[in-house]
Amino acid sequence: MRKQIAAANWKMNLTYQNGEKLLDDILDANIKLSSHQLAIFAVPYPYLIMTRSEVEDEKNYYAAAQNCHHKRSGAYTGEVSADMLHSIGINYCVVGHSERREYNGETNAMLADKVNLCYENNIIPVFCCGEPLAIREEGTQNSYVAAQLRESLFHLPAEKIKEIIIAYEPIWAIGTGKTATTEQAQEIHHFLRTVIADQYSESVADDIPILYGGSVKANNAKELFSCPDVDGGLVGGASLVAEDFIEIIKALK
Ligand code: PEP
Repeated sequence: MRKQIAAANWKMNLTYQNGEKLLDDILDANIKLSSHQLAIFAVPYPYLIMTRSEVEDEKNYYAAAQNCHHKRSGAYTGEVSADMLHSIGINYCVVGHSERREYNGETNAMLADKVNLCYENNIIPVFCCGEPLAIREEGTQNSYVAAQLRESLFHLPAEKIKEIIIAYEPIWAIGTGKTATTEQAQEIHHFLRTVIADQYSESVADDIPILYGGSVKANNAKELFSCPDVDGGLVGGASLVAEDFIEIIKALK
């Protein structure tokens, strides 16, 4: 079975102490993950080492960065490279979150560079794609997200792209309390898999987890994750509340 993943995105929330307590509360629930299930915590940079050591004895729990820079190294004050993440034992990194695309001007081409640097450093990208409301209203979401994959990922050879995690996150559903319906989620996830199959092969497309993101909550996770092409979620708000994220992990197939 393809990997099923509950990924928390803390964004710029929580103090170090509150983050540590949140992790403790989640780990205290003692949810044993099966070999195909993962729980990933994308935390602010200063909390990465703490998070990594909190989860290191737990099977299939991982720390992730929320971003890395698109250049290898150099005079980029305040930035963090994929190589630095690798040097502290980080194996996952969110790439291309819509907030970074919007507030930091990240383009599909820059994201292709980030993805390459992640792979060079043995970091699995959690690659985000998704359309804004105007595109959804126009009905052109499929070509919009297909272009995001094509321009940032399709230069990769099959053996690399097979490792990636994709998160489809309609921007109109992020932090708005508005969730895509299960039909909308299944339809576009299936479409993304078809685009990957056309470029690579059915077997490559079948291996890649595609997470849904956009107001996943404890009370809708099970229904969303039950869609055949939805392999878990990338979760913002609800990942900041231990009981809610515990239920979301439990909702994994
Ligand atoms: C996100 O941060 O990627 C996200 C989906 O946020 P929320 O769950 O709060 O909508």
